[in-house]
Order: sequence, then structure tokens, then C-alpha cells
Amino acid sequence: MTKSLIAESQELTRAVQLIKLGARMAVLEAETSLSHERLVRLHREVTGQSPSKGQLPYSTDWFMAWQPNIHSSLFMNIHERLDKSIALAPIDLLMKAWELYREELRTLDVEPMLSITRAWRLVKFVDSDMLCLTACTQCGGHFVTHTHEWGPGFKPYVCGLCEPPARAGKSKRAGAIH
Ligand SMILES: [Zn+2]
Repeated sequence: MTKSLIAESQELTRAVQLIKLGARMAVLEAETSLSHERLVRLHREVTGQSPSKGQLPYSTDWFMAWQPNIHSSLFMNIHERLDKSIALAPIDLLMKAWELYREELRTLDVEPMLSITRAWRLVKFVDSDMLCLTACTQCGGHFVTHTHEWGPGFKPYVCGLCEPPARAGKSKRAGAIH
């Protein structure tokens, strides 16, 4: 079976967009049906460099650390809001939400801590019900947490903004969102 040229051109466009946003090969391979060789070639054409090798070692733990959690939560809130307001293919929704996340940080003069690849992993973890958004019992904001850890019968959830870790003050807030 040959793919239609239109479908293929759509996949190429998506792959180029993802590469421009800094996505790793694992994302490109999972989200397009383009061959590894073509993706490597495309990556070289777009960035002038070969894609970085290596695994994606991300467990859910990264998203729980203090600052990453704030970034992840901001992204996930944008993602959910967007998902409710426009119908987009999941990968297009991811890219749009990540661009909005980056944009929001730019207005705060903060570097994005959550790469597009991590954002992709995060959405996968939420889809597979390993992570979810939980409301903070103090500020009411929604934050990324492990699923089945909070709620009735558990300790009330308090977010990292309401209860920053003790060492938080020292790191002078690189990448911090207030
Ligand atoms: Zn809170």
C-alpha cells in the first residue's frame, strides 16, 4: 500500500514542526509513520545537525520535583483548556499547548523547563492514568500528581507554590514561576 501524497505531506509538515520545537526522535517516530532514515535526514535538513541519540529515561518522578512540577502543571492546564475549546489531533494539540506554554513563560521572562519531549511524555502518563491533575486544597490550582495518591481517605493535597520546599529560597528561582 502506498500512502497518499497528501497524507504524507501532512506527516512531513508535522515532523518539521516537531523538529523545530526541539522534539526528540522517539516522539517523531511515535507520532509519524515516516521511516527512521527519512526522519534523520529531515532532522539534518531542518536543524543542520544529527538528532541526539540515547534513550528517554523519563519516569514519572521528574514531574514531581518542585520546579518541574510547577512547569508541568502550567503546561497541563493549558493543554486541558485547549482540548476543551478546539478539536485538534492529539499531536497538534500537544504542539499548540506547548507553544502557548513557552509563550506564557516568555511574558514572565522564564526559560521553559518542560521540553516538548517531556510534555509529550507527560500527556502519555496522564492518558494512561499514571498522572493526573489534582486541586490544591489551599489555592485551588490544579497540579500534576500521581493518580490515586490524593483525595478522600488521603492526606489533603497542598501544591508546591503554597508549600515550597525549604531549600527553594536558596536556588534563586531559576526557571521559577511565581
Ligand atoms: Zn496551592
